[in-house]
Amino acid sequence: MKENSPNKTVNFYGNDFIVDENVLIPRPETEQIIDEVLKLVGRPILPGVKPTPAKLNPKGIKILDVGTSSGCIAITLKKLLKDVEIYASDISEKALKIARKNAEIHQAPITTIISHLLKNVNITPDIIVANLPYVDKTWDWLDLDSLSKEPEIALFAEDGGLKLIKELIDTATSKYLILEADPSQHKQIIDYAKSKYSLIEENGFIITLSLR
Ligand code: GLN
Repeated sequence: MKENSPNKTVNFYGNDFIVDENVLIPRPETEQIIDEVLKLVGRPILPGVKPTPAKLNPKGIKILDVGTSSGCIAITLKKLLKDVEIYASDISEKALKIARKNAEIHQAPITTIISHLLKNVNITPDIIVANLPYVDKTWDWLDLDSLSKEPEIALFAEDGGLKLIKELIDTATSKYLILEADPSQHKQIIDYAKSKYSLIEENGFIITLSLR
């Protein structure tokens, strides 16, 4: 009988997550999304660091991770915020399979939804977090070889990399939107969103927006 190859794992925010060729490899810059959620709900980012005042009481709120891939963001949030309902969507069933496997390993109950962005999502989350594909294939600093082991669908987007982020901004009605994008794209995203969402914070790759 053919033996299954051992699962590769990658650490994200202190926990190991299984990855395969169907998911985006968790990256350190994405960990900031977790910190931004903790700040919104007034929880300390590090033990011993005074939390900022909560903008949102975490009790009973719903958080949706759009484009969850390995599930690393959604599962980390569930582990840190046990009384929050966590939803995780992705357009790829193969990715959601890995996300569900990771959720089981971490005993972090999350609800997975197969969906293009918010299309099949029939709840209104209080917070949406999203590390969507935002890489523009034509960027001259790109090292395409180093990205060749990950699914293109998880990395690249049209319209200078902004197609999906713009569509999410157009369709979202959640109070808070926490997005990852390349810092060179932030100004364009903030400008695009500004009649609907105002900027709360920009940290590293992460933008936190609030519904007007
Ligand atoms: N930050 C990743 C990179 O530049 C891209 C991740 C993404 O598209 N969401 O390789």
